[in-house]
Amino acid sequence: MLRATHKTGLVFFPAFDWAIDPTHPEREERLLYTQDQVFEEGLLDIDGIVELKSDLVTIKDIQRVHFCVPDPWAVITESHLISAGGAKTIGMAVLDGTIERGFALVRPPGHHANRVVHGARGFCNINIEAIMIEYLRRAYGIDRVAIVDTDCHHGDGTQDIYWHDPDTLFISIHQDGRTLYPGSGFLNEFGGPNACGTTINLPLPPETCDEGFLYAIEKVVLPILDEFKPQLIINSAGQDNHYSDPITNMSFSARGYAQLTSLLKADIAVLEGGYAIEGALPYVNAGIIMAMAGLDYSHLREPDYNPDRLRQDADVTRTIEKTCNYALEIWRKRSSIIHTVRQKSGCAERQRQIFYDTDNILETQQEQIRICDDCAGALRIDSVSDRGVRILGVQVPRKACQACIDQARHWYEDADRNVYRHIFLQDRVKDQYLERKI
Ligand SMILES: [Zn+2]
Ligand SMILES: [Zn+2]
Ligand SMILES: [Zn+2]
Repeated sequence: MLRATHKTGLVFFPAFDWAIDPTHPEREERLLYTQDQVFEEGLLDIDGIVELKSDLVTIKDIQRVHFCVPDPWAVITESHLISAGGAKTIGMAVLDGTIERGFALVRPPGHHANRVVHGARGFCNINIEAIMIEYLRRAYGIDRVAIVDTDCHHGDGTQDIYWHDPDTLFISIHQDGRTLYPGSGFLNEFGGPNACGTTINLPLPPETCDEGFLYAIEKVVLPILDEFKPQLIINSAGQDNHYSDPITNMSFSARGYAQLTSLLKADIAVLEGGYAIEGALPYVNAGIIMAMAGLDYSHLREPDYNPDRLRQDADVTRTIEKTCNYALEIWRKRSSIIHTVRQKSGCAERQRQIFYDTDNILETQQEQIRICDDCAGALRIDSVSDRGVRILGVQVPRKACQACIDQARHWYEDADRNVYRHIFLQDRVKDQYLERKI
């Protein structure tokens, strides 16, 4: 009988009752075909591959990460609690040691969900990876975490949530934002003033093949992971880089995904996008599972696989090499970049507009972060949607210093009640979420 080298846990949650509309690419068949393939390949009969049942996350788990407007129930369904719960189940099982690695094959996805949530963007309402990570930090005392997002779209929500966190390394590999939603994830986005260098973007040109993806992993991702020394590596395992994906333009194969998974050695993988429902997803998912478990995947091929059509153009190769070199340079120079950014003290500001394409909402945000040498910094977000709802979200970060705790309390208590519909405090030191009553 076949035996997995690494004991691997799987959670399946296709979310039958959640869809944007019946013909939308984000629908339950995404996982049903995969489940069939996993049974057909006999993966669940292999000694050392186990299926786990998804827990639900709680509202408290969500509020450790998000400011939901006006509250979580307004922006989620029960499916979101189970989808994030699937990730949490895998995370707990890994840290309890009942499995060595695990893969949450769940939907709805989450990596486009920012810290503030007025609705759905890029099919995402809440960030399932971040909710899992912050739960694990609280429950298991984990500190340093790395997230490697290999979905074809930039993981802009995860980037937003960890923009100011020096203990979370976020690396996103994606199709160049000039050619694909959400239009962000460029090399010059490398983190806020308290966390310069711990956000790394690798925008790759359209038609990047296996060769290019694996080059980026070996040349940039692995050496940086080696230096950062995370206690946990999480892979946001989107599969829309596949050559047959209907909404993207990359040329990645199922075997390429399996090789990437072998190289990355993530503790936890969480499904994100991937819309070639019959032609790619079942094979890519099977490949990821086999690679996680340490099984041979050399026979793995999509029915229409043709290596001649998946040879990388020389121009594409050159662009990828340049991008990788530049990203490494930023990483190596991060301490001098921090020094330049910290010339001024006090608070740094960011002004942004965020479009919720799924729900057609436009949000305008003004964010302030206290520049701090001792912690991740008190955070203040003034957010108003074009539906006229204005809120203030204040965060006391994990491991906050006293000055940042005082600053955050001050922002929360002194906010003008006539200006904001809701005033929230996310206190990560006390693990509390408060709303000031108006
Ligand atoms: Zn092992
Ligand atoms: Zn995607
Ligand atoms: Zn501080």
